Amino acid sequence: MRSLPYFCRGQVVRGFGRGSKDLGIPTANFPESVVDTLPADISTGIYYGWACVDNGDIHKMVMSIGWNPYYKNTKKSIETHVIHTFKGDFYGQILSVAMVGYIRPERGFESLDELIAAIHSDIEEAKIKLDLPEHLKLKEHHFFKTSVSTTANQILNGHRL
Ligand code: ADP
Ligand code: MG
Repeated sequence: MRSLPYFCRGQVVRGFGRGSKDLGIPTANFPESVVDTLPADISTGIYYGWACVDNGDIHKMVMSIGWNPYYKNTKKSIETHVIHTFKGDFYGQILSVAMVGYIRPERGFESLDELIAAIHSDIEEAKIKLDLPEHLKLKEHHFFKTSVSTTANQILNGHRL
């Protein structure tokens, strides 16, 4: 994918309440305005990269880009699981992400246990890949140093290296 690494930023909105948090894997949703600006060559599936909330620390993340059942699968959604334990929710705050690499396409699962196991294996893969020097250096990218306005639903897409 030529667009990787891809940087984007937006205000965290409520998702579909599918209970991701109850599974121990909360996923922060981006608003449609961010989804609509994704380049065409960023396909659906699971990605890994870096994420930070407002001006906080930069953490590893896994992200799912998929078809949103709420809109009868006509609209994509972007959901980010930050690999970090936060003190509370961060709805309304600004999530900045660097999508660095692709793990796998979307797929169906026979059971909830199988889905959870797959996400845990995605998380392990993300942790290992992001320790590679070429990926670690993206943590230092100026994208993460630009100050974030929490009042605006700010989108800064298309930051390329
Ligand atoms: P929703 O359906 O509203 O997206 P989730 O159960 O997926 O609900 O929980 C997502 C919310 O949990 C995020 O919007 C964020 O406010 C909060 N959250 C807390 N910790 C994390 C984390 N490590 N990664 C992503 N979101 C988190
Ligand atoms: Mg969610």
